[in-house]
Amino acid sequence: MTKVFMARPLPEEVQTAAKALFDVTVRQDTGPLTEAEMATALTDYDGVIPTLGDLFSAEIFAAHPNPRCRILANFGVGFNHIDVGAARQAGIVVTNTPGAVTDATADVALTLMLMSARRAGEGERLLRAGQWEGWHPTQLLGMHLGGKTVGIVGLGRIGQAIARRCHFGFGMNVAYHSRSPKSLDFPAVAKESLVALAEAVDVLVVAVPGGDETHHLIDAEVLGAMRASAHLINIARGNVVEEAALINALALGQIAGAGLDVYEFEPKVPETLIAMENVTLLPHLGTAALGVREEMGLMTVKNLDAFFKDQPVPNPV
Ligand code: NAP
Repeated sequence: MTKVFMARPLPEEVQTAAKALFDVTVRQDTGPLTEAEMATALTDYDGVIPTLGDLFSAEIFAAHPNPRCRILANFGVGFNHIDVGAARQAGIVVTNTPGAVTDATADVALTLMLMSARRAGEGERLLRAGQWEGWHPTQLLGMHLGGKTVGIVGLGRIGQAIARRCHFGFGMNVAYHSRSPKSLDFPAVAKESLVALAEAVDVLVVAVPGGDETHHLIDAEVLGAMRASAHLINIARGNVVEEAALINALALGQIAGAGLDVYEFEPKVPETLIAMENVTLLPHLGTAALGVREEMGLMTVKNLDAFFKDQPVPNPV
């Protein structure tokens, strides 16, 4: 029977679906795979379900030139932790789970936008600390999102879902910067550069994939172009934003606040960020809903099933 290695315990429904088709080993640890575990995954299994943090680097593939493993069915849409070129050279197919994550991740972007603009985290901390002395007209005044302009960096599936929510749900103006032209069924202004976008918006939302191409895309120059009243939201990957430059921009008051779901050196979050009142920090909650994780898991099983039946995989990367 085909042997599959599941690198984290996935929801019950997913494990059941996988076990109905394959001889599945479920690793019980919830942290990233070690190098030794990745080596075993490549040499002892026909297929692997890796996820965020499992660093399948070129070195790992080079160290195992004739792997038994023929498919990495990644659990997640982001696959910047896998060197896809090196995997291909080693004869390994890589798949992911696009679509299943889109709405849930866009919802978390809106959660962060609202929390940052309306100072929700700061307010909750104040109340929990027993320091709330009652409503008054000038307490905790934030920025109302209605009528403001959101700028989307990377207008792909999630970026478009965020733009749609902003336009239809909050009456916001939408601007964006993307590599290729986009056509939407609601008004959205394309900006010629990232800096031009940063200058023009009240909220800048990062929704590009991680990887070498987008590493530190949001740097001191982009942050410096933002308005002092603007907020930065990152639901993409931590290292798309240069964290040190962000801390500096917040400390100097170059921007009003930030809402983050991902971190450059995840799960490490700098103490300076934690100490800042105008920063909302979520622990990578983008897709964290049972139904979403089940759908993602069932997509990985479908990719494995198609692959081992010699059919085209539904979600190659
Ligand atoms: P997608 O549909 O591929 O969209 C990505 C968009 O980014 C595309 O429009 C792409 O442009 C654009 N882009 C890529 N490189 C760019 C660059 N260098 N400059 C400007 N734009 C660039 O992907 P998605 O499904 O929306 O997911 C986006 C990312 O979100 C994932 O890769 C993942 O890392 C992250 N994510 C995070 C969470 C979370 O839990 N926080 C959950 C899900 C996903 P083109 O259209 O021209 O290709």
